[in-house]
Amino acid sequence: MGKRILVTGGAGFIGSHLCGRLLSDGHDVICADNLFTGTKRNIEKYLDNHRFEFLRHDVTKELLVEVDQIYNLACPASPVHYQYNPVKTMKTSVMGAINMLGLAKRVRARVLQASTSEVYGNPAVHPQPEEYWGNVNPIGIRSCYDEGKRAAETLFFDYHRQNKVDIKVVRIFNTYGPNMNAHDGRVVSNFIVQALKNEDITIYGDGKQTRSFCYVDDLIEGMVRMMDSADGFTGPVNLGNPGEFTMLELAEKVIALTGSSSKIVYMPLPQDDPVQRKPVIDLAKKELNWEPSVALEEGLKKTIAYFRDILEET
Ligand code: NAD
Ligand code: UDP
Repeated sequence: MGKRILVTGGAGFIGSHLCGRLLSDGHDVICADNLFTGTKRNIEKYLDNHRFEFLRHDVTKELLVEVDQIYNLACPASPVHYQYNPVKTMKTSVMGAINMLGLAKRVRARVLQASTSEVYGNPAVHPQPEEYWGNVNPIGIRSCYDEGKRAAETLFFDYHRQNKVDIKVVRIFNTYGPNMNAHDGRVVSNFIVQALKNEDITIYGDGKQTRSFCYVDDLIEGMVRMMDSADGFTGPVNLGNPGEFTMLELAEKVIALTGSSSKIVYMPLPQDDPVQRKPVIDLAKKELNWEPSVALEEGLKKTIAYFRDILEET
């Protein structure tokens, strides 16, 4: 039977795909978003669906709605956006978590937290299993996001232990796909937009740092499986694609797939930029029977097609 599901941050990149998936699974969806980095364009196609409701709402404020499940995604996710107003970023993570956990407690909903591989910081253990506690600078320019997300995880587990709130925590690794914000400065969107405009491709540092990129459809499947997983399995569970690439390899792939005449240029590496990142996904395989199926090249082609359309419109 269809459930009533709240998605905070539902007008953002990942949230908009999640809303679409939940609607097509037959659920009623309430999307709560303050539109800081998300857009109505991302959810435009759901607006006249009678099972979809959009609330312009800031998660730092209380929200009372009767729902069965809550996916808590509200938080700016790209370094450019989360560093724009770092105090607000921390408030969004911490107060947003408290408000959503309080709501889950009151209406007895199950609540899933979109945590992040950033809880591992600049990891000294590679690849990263869930048991790794991380290597995070508490006072740097990324800390508002990293520590905010770490505090949110703490709140999730304390509400679970103290108040028996039914929690699920996923740690999402770099995800990409259509509906990414073209201006949020993340590497996949930056490189694709630069390549499509034949502008210089900006590699920060020497380009040897690595990331593992997960296509958004794979991630959404993992999130839904986690939400619907057995009682008692709280996570945290890593969701990501273990394929590991250097930023230089990514730039070369994007140039090849777009047929661009862009040149690669090197810019300074931002402070505390993690050197390497790759998930261990054994837990997700075992508990959720999940692993990603979209290879980087295939996902990049779909993302490039999306940005081609966007750039033609503007
Ligand atoms: P996004 O910026 O596209 O989406 C975030 C959404 O939250 C936006 O729609 C924004 O308007 C909304 N929002 C921000 N602050 C809010 C507030 N105070 N109240 C209400 N809404 C607010 O980013 P995304 O990539 O879709 O990320 C979604 C979630 O997944 C975030 O919590 C992020 O930390 C997490 N995550 C994403 C990635 C990734 O690679 N994309 C990796 C790890 C974790
Ligand atoms: N990066 C880059 N050029 C860009 C944007 C990002 O070389 O135009 C690098 C960035 O320094 C980092 C990696 O790409 O090493 C991933 O950056 P992103 O902001 O996408 O995500 P995160 O650092 O949060 O994983």
